[in-house]
Amino acid sequence: MIFAGRMLWSPEPDADAEWTSGSWRIGATGIHRCDSDAPADLTGYAIPGLVDSHCHLGIGPEGPAGPDARRAHAEATVRSGVLAVRDCGSPVDCSDLEDLTVAPRIISAGRHIARPRRYIRDLPIEAEKPADLPRLVAEQAASHPWIKIVGDWIDRSNGADSDLDPLWPREVLIDAVAAAHDAGARVAVHSFGRRTVDDLLSAGVDDIEHATGMDEDQAAEAAARGVLVTPTLLQVELFSDFADQAGAKYPVYARTMREMHALRREHFAMLVDSGVRLLMGTDSGGYQEHGTILREMRLWRERGLPAGDVLDAATWRTRRELGLPALHEGAPADLVVLADDPAERLDALAAPTAIIARGAPLASA
Ligand SMILES: [Zn+2]
Repeated sequence: MIFAGRMLWSPEPDADAEWTSGSWRIGATGIHRCDSDAPADLTGYAIPGLVDSHCHLGIGPEGPAGPDARRAHAEATVRSGVLAVRDCGSPVDCSDLEDLTVAPRIISAGRHIARPRRYIRDLPIEAEKPADLPRLVAEQAASHPWIKIVGDWIDRSNGADSDLDPLWPREVLIDAVAAAHDAGARVAVHSFGRRTVDDLLSAGVDDIEHATGMDEDQAAEAAARGVLVTPTLLQVELFSDFADQAGAKYPVYARTMREMHALRREHFAMLVDSGVRLLMGTDSGGYQEHGTILREMRLWRERGLPAGDVLDAATWRTRRELGLPALHEGAPADLVVLADDPAERLDALAAPTAIIARGAPLASA
C-alpha cells in the first residue's frame, strides 16, 4: 500500500518528528519512503498511531470486567486511533488482548499497589504494612515493565478530619523504587495532592500521574530530574464531583479536591511553562470511557496548548518516553491517516480516513 501526502515523520529513530511531504510504502514489514511516481492508495495527512500512557483496559464503569467487555475496551481504544497504551494498573490480566486483530500494543504496569482501604475497592494489591511495599513492587517488576503505586488517597480513618494523605513513608518509597529499578522496571505513582510529591521526587520515581498538587518548585525539580508527568485533564474535571460525593462526611477532603478543581486551568499552564515532560493519558477505565483520547486532547487545546503541540504529545513525544517507535524508516507501520491537517484542526481525528495497525488497515466498523 502506498501513502502520498504529508506525514509527521522522524528523519532518524530518535529525532523529533516533523511534517514531511512524500510517498511511503506501508506493509507488514514496516514503513519505508518510496518514489513519488508510484500511484497512491491513500492520501492526506498521516500521523504516528496515538498513544495513551494512562488507561485501564479491563476496568469498566462497574469495576473489573469480563473478556467480552475487555475486547470492547480494546476495540474502542483502537478505533479512536490509539494504537499503543500503557495499561496503568488493572486487576485483570489483559495480555490475551494482544492476540486480537483489533488491539493496541500494551505496555503493562501490572496491578495498582496500595494499602488496605486506601484506593478503589477490588483494584489494588494491598500492603498490610507499609514496609511490604518494596517486596510487592519486586514481585510485580518480575513480569511488568512498569509498576503502579498509589501515592495518596483519602484516609477515612480520621473521620470528619479525613484528607488526602500519603500512603507511604519516604524511606519505604526509596526502597520500593530501588527494587523496581533493580529489576529493570520503571515506576509510575498516582498523586493528587502536594504533600506526596517531595517524597516521590526524593525516591526517584519515573512518572507522576495526575500531579494536580504539584507546585511550581516541585514542577521545576521534576523537569530538572526528567520525571514524567501525566496530567489526565479529563479526570481532573471530575474533582468537583468527587468533592460532592465526599460531601458533609469528609469536608476537609472535599475542600482539598474543590481547591484543585478550581485551579486546574492555571495549574496545567504552570506545568506546561515548567518544562516538565508531559505524557498524554486519558485515565480511561472506571470513570472515563475507553476511546476518549480526542476529548483529552481537546482539553489540552482549550487550556492553551497549540494543536500541533497537543498532537506531538499524543503521538511521537509520548511514544518516545514509553520506548515505543514513532514513524521513521523501517518502523512498524502504526499510523492514522486523516483528510485534514490535524495540527490545524484536532477534530480531524474524529473521522480518520484510515487507521493502520502493523501495516494493515482496520476494517471499518
Ligand atoms: Zn488511573
